[in-house]
Amino acid sequence: MNRVRLLVFNAALGVLDYRVPPGMTIEFGSIVMAPLGPRQVLGIVWEPERLNAQEVPESKLRALLDVMPVPSIPERLRRLIEWTADYYCAPLSAVARMALGSMAALRGGGTTTEYRLTGAEPARMTPRRAAALDALQGEQASIRELAELASVSEGVLRGMVGAGLLEPVTVDLDRPYPAAWADFAAPDLSAEQRAAADTFVTAVRDGEFAPFLLDGVTGSGKTECYFEAVAEALQLERQILVLLPEIALTENFLRRFEHRFGVPPLLWHSSLKSSERRRAWRAIVRGEAQVVVGARSALFLPYARLGLIVVDEAHEVSFKQDDGVRYNARDVAVMRAKFESIPVILASATPALESMQLAEAGVYRKLELPSRFGGAQLPDIQILDLRSEAPERGRWLAPRLVEQMKDRLAKGEQSLLFLNRRGYAPLTLCRHCGYRFQCPNCTAWLVEHRFSKRLACHHCGHEVPVPEACPECGTGDCLVACGPGVERIADEVAEILPEARTALVTSDTMNTPEAIGDFVAMAEGRAIDVIIGTQLVTKGYHFPELTLVGVVDADLGLEGGDLRAAERTYQQVAQVAGRAGRGEKPGVVLIQTRHPEAAVIEALANGDRDAFYAAETEARRDAGAPPFGRWAAIIVSSEDQAEALAAARAIGGTAPNLPDMMVLGPAPAPLSLLRGRHRFRLLINARRSAELQKTLREWLAPLEFPRGVRVNIDIDPYSF
Ligand code: ADP
Ligand code: ZN
Repeated sequence: MNRVRLLVFNAALGVLDYRVPPGMTIEFGSIVMAPLGPRQVLGIVWEPERLNAQEVPESKLRALLDVMPVPSIPERLRRLIEWTADYYCAPLSAVARMALGSMAALRGGGTTTEYRLTGAEPARMTPRRAAALDALQGEQASIRELAELASVSEGVLRGMVGAGLLEPVTVDLDRPYPAAWADFAAPDLSAEQRAAADTFVTAVRDGEFAPFLLDGVTGSGKTECYFEAVAEALQLERQILVLLPEIALTENFLRRFEHRFGVPPLLWHSSLKSSERRRAWRAIVRGEAQVVVGARSALFLPYARLGLIVVDEAHEVSFKQDDGVRYNARDVAVMRAKFESIPVILASATPALESMQLAEAGVYRKLELPSRFGGAQLPDIQILDLRSEAPERGRWLAPRLVEQMKDRLAKGEQSLLFLNRRGYAPLTLCRHCGYRFQCPNCTAWLVEHRFSKRLACHHCGHEVPVPEACPECGTGDCLVACGPGVERIADEVAEILPEARTALVTSDTMNTPEAIGDFVAMAEGRAIDVIIGTQLVTKGYHFPELTLVGVVDADLGLEGGDLRAAERTYQQVAQVAGRAGRGEKPGVVLIQTRHPEAAVIEALANGDRDAFYAAETEARRDAGAPPFGRWAAIIVSSEDQAEALAAARAIGGTAPNLPDMMVLGPAPAPLSLLRGRHRFRLLINARRSAELQKTLREWLAPLEFPRGVRVNIDIDPYSF
């Protein structure tokens, strides 16, 4: 090759052609450095016929500068990148960037320098040094990361290096990870589990594309089953990727993994520090990393020899990325398995309707685990109609639920209260003038967080201290909390069961793996009587003494009225119900609701999952919703409301008139102001057969908008 086409990692630049200087060896997929004006850019050498570029005459071509000392992006991953960009109408370069994971990793070099405290006493103490000395105890990271940790400038830290307070440490990025043992502690599987596990093992051995839906009730041992597939892939020296919905939830998973395979897996998620990220990336691309457990961003990494993908809790909405490239990791995982010719296992106790339908259509092979392991019974689910069994005034827990909690406390058993709402109260207002605290950047109320004494926006992160007086009328001590959040439920439990030991489990209180680990240890050690939590507590945990689950407000999710409201409610309640009665003692679940007649609540009460799927299927069929039809959203936003509306109208005005597609809107998006941007939305409802993406591209390509306007396409949107 003496002329190459590069996909540049910068959406604005796109595709550029270069000359290969004599002596440089490259192939398709090589990652190279190229000159661009006075700058240098990185890109991937791509098959020229697959990328459109402006033709540049031979004489004008500039020469590539360097080939990065890392393995090339394999063809199967290049095809996945193309597929993803095409399907989600996203820029190729933005998708390709996800494959890199770490730009820094490209620059080669098997070592990096980090810094840590020396322990020396400072000759000159300043407030900032004192803060840094305090914050950096036991930490080791780059200067930039330490500065962030200690909230001081990098200059302060450099000064501390000069003063001998911080010392450099050379970190070896290529030190190996401990090797997992395929047969470290293989379990005795039940006959049911064995059948599923054997199917997976055979598929791993065959090494062909095979998508599975592992549909098993909570506590049936889905993890144990797919661990057998992991063991087989380990034996064959293939790499394994396990995607989990939220990395904060993995503490429990990591312990189980270690118990089974003798060592922890390699973790990949967004809060890895840069040296860990570089080390992990190097091990992944060289094929040395055996098992990678990661959040959705682990999906696009260039594994050298992938042999199996598992998507656990595959129904989880957090697999859907809602900014940047708006993709669904569950669906892309199946495509990746296809391009890699390997099996993929989607595991869930409450599969998405789309997945169920694909299984029914024979696209996925469904394996079922209909009973709990070890003969544990599924819990007894009861409805608590809040209209006839109302809680006392100013309280949120109905008498029957409180009675049951008291009973569990007396017996030394555990209860769990679930409410998917962080903070103390969703709305705070002034008793005197009715002023409501609203986010200045978003169409959202500020949520009171009583422990941190702040009002916070859950959309943009805007925070203010809880004020002493109303900012509108100036009356002091006038704020009233409206409605419950988990913190308020915790207060109520403290009042009604003062002797109970409680744990509040939300992303505010459990924001590190250590905090979650401590919580799990305490719950398992029976040092906690009542757990109060958001969706953080719904998944994965196995506390044998937990025999009562109270769902504080089952109607919460139904009110939004969006496409997946019923499904999400079903999944959340079924998941949290699945925490009850996992040991020898049977579990009871009380669901507080004002809509006991809603199809989803009835199905939950009757433990009739099929009825839920049947009702939901009908509702979706009527609405032309997935899996029967398809949706796409176009979100138009700008800091200037008029500009955003004008752009949205311009898009609406040029909408194609097609028989298999319907365009709704523009209308204000549900969050019509988000992070300071005004948002309008068009919804497209298409028949399955419609050429949705192609139509969207052709529709939007010729339109031009002012610079401040952003137009985002969301294919298969989750919430809108
Ligand atoms: P699921 O993921 O389906 O909810 P888990 O895999 O978490 O189920 O299994 C539930 C519990 O039962 C776990 O504590 C697990 O260790 C245990 N378990 C499941 N299958 C077996 C088995 N074959 N041998 C021993 N323990 C098992
Ligand atoms: Zn906000």
